Amino acid sequence: MNSRSEVIAEDPTAEAATLLLRSPRWSVSDVMELLEVGDLEFRRLVEANTRLARVLEARKAGDEFNAVVERQCSVCGEPFSTATFRDHCGAASCMRVSRLRKL
Ligand SMILES: [Zn+2]
Repeated sequence: MNSRSEVIAEDPTAEAATLLLRSPRWSVSDVMELLEVGDLEFRRLVEANTRLARVLEARKAGDEFNAVVERQCSVCGEPFSTATFRDHCGAASCMRVSRLRKL
């Protein structure tokens, strides 16, 4: 018996989707359009392909992290937008005070 035959061949569409989705340039809908797959088909590809599922998970986490949020500087009170977890507006003095507070 050839044990290799037990290895399920990668679906070329799932393979292409995995590669495309690794690039932040392509959105999920772009990729679906490019590969000409519908919603249902795409969901099936994700279910059948763990690598594709993992890339999607990573993107979701990345999206959350990169989302720009409005915050208020904890030092001077000025509003600012950031995609990081910083709690100050980025001015040198605020940065210094914020750092000192964490010591
Ligand atoms: Zn500030």
